[in-house]
Amino acid sequence: MRAVVYQGPHEVAVREVDDPRVEQPTDALVRITTTAICGSDLHMYEGRTIAEPGIVFGHENMGIVEEVGSGVTSVRAGDRVCLPFNIACGFCRNCLAGNTGFCLTVNPGFAGGAYGYVGMGPYPGGQAEYLRVPFADFNCLQLPRGEEHEDDFAMLADIFPTGYHATELARVSPGETVAVYGAGPVGLMAAYSALLRGASQVFVVDKVPDRLRLAEQIGAVPIDFTRGSAPEQIRDRTDGGTDKGIDAVGYQATVPEGEEQPAVVLNDLIETVRATGTLGVVGLYLPRDPGAPSEEAGQGRLLIDVGRFFEKGLRMGSGQANVKAYNRHLRDLIIAGRAAPGFVVSQRRPLDDAPDAYARFDRREEGYSKVVLSP
Ligand code: NAD
Ligand code: ZN
Repeated sequence: MRAVVYQGPHEVAVREVDDPRVEQPTDALVRITTTAICGSDLHMYEGRTIAEPGIVFGHENMGIVEEVGSGVTSVRAGDRVCLPFNIACGFCRNCLAGNTGFCLTVNPGFAGGAYGYVGMGPYPGGQAEYLRVPFADFNCLQLPRGEEHEDDFAMLADIFPTGYHATELARVSPGETVAVYGAGPVGLMAAYSALLRGASQVFVVDKVPDRLRLAEQIGAVPIDFTRGSAPEQIRDRTDGGTDKGIDAVGYQATVPEGEEQPAVVLNDLIETVRATGTLGVVGLYLPRDPGAPSEEAGQGRLLIDVGRFFEKGLRMGSGQANVKAYNRHLRDLIIAGRAAPGFVVSQRRPLDDAPDAYARFDRREEGYSKVVLSP
């Protein structure tokens, strides 16, 4: 089959790879109808990780079940399913507690499993014609048959639940004010989720005009950080800061001119929320490469003003989203017409266009807020 294969920094190719098949009785084989490119893929694409060439990318997948193993009971050939990016067993301590992003079975010793991601287990991605889904009873979200809401449902694999997770980590309550750093797909979904949860005012910080326009379109207040300090702009518009804050940028924050360390969005958030506020961090910070010399600051070791964090009595939650914890409810909001996360999708392209789509999404070109691929 054809698949998007990582070749090296800033290069992917669509190539023939081995067909996946049902390997365990608990597996399903899914024919992919939609697979999205994620900001998380860009960490590997840009060469920021130890990903080796040859990885098939793609953790935001949905499609039609082609075949199931003999031990699968709740999923059948022909079912339309969305696949949470987390691969989880459903029976370990973390899964039982709802923390399916941290499954202890599928990738022992690490932080959970995922399709097509370095460090997250030996699972090829779904930017391909077919995908093997382990523990299929647990890892398939059933969708209504047909083709309706394809873009909306595709967002259930990752970014809609991730945006929602950010608001959960930040404990967003009705009436509160929220600052979201990053108007990428994840930040937009976090802002959208905060509004769904009844936030009174949501600020979205970025510098990319069409992304800020999308933020405004959903009812958030766009803040362009190139027009002056974002924390100051937001503090001026609120009573000394927002109640809650969300980091949807992570490590890939822009490196300011003349500086080596990226602008750590966490420091901006600490200055943006009022004292005793809560931060939700879903932007990805990569662990330090264990192979790096000890004197080198690893990617996960950045200068965070812990003193200010303490002084303001802030709280913080972070990590991979536990997609399973939210995706049924969010799916039902889509079906009921109360949520339409597909508004972020700006491009649907054939799988073969992946190299061009990656390059443009990576450059945050106009009209490339979120790209989905049709294999
Ligand atoms: P993206 O790269 O498209 O979006 C990031 C946005 O941040 C861009 O629009 C960029 O212009 C903006 N930005 C850069 N520097 C900034 C700064 N200093 N202040 C404000 N905005 C700034 O990526 P995305 O798909 O939206 O993903 C965002 C992050 O979320 C990535 O780190 C990704 O890995 C992570 N992620 C985490 C999870 C999870 O489960 N926790 C899931 C999906 C994605
Ligand atoms: Zn993703």
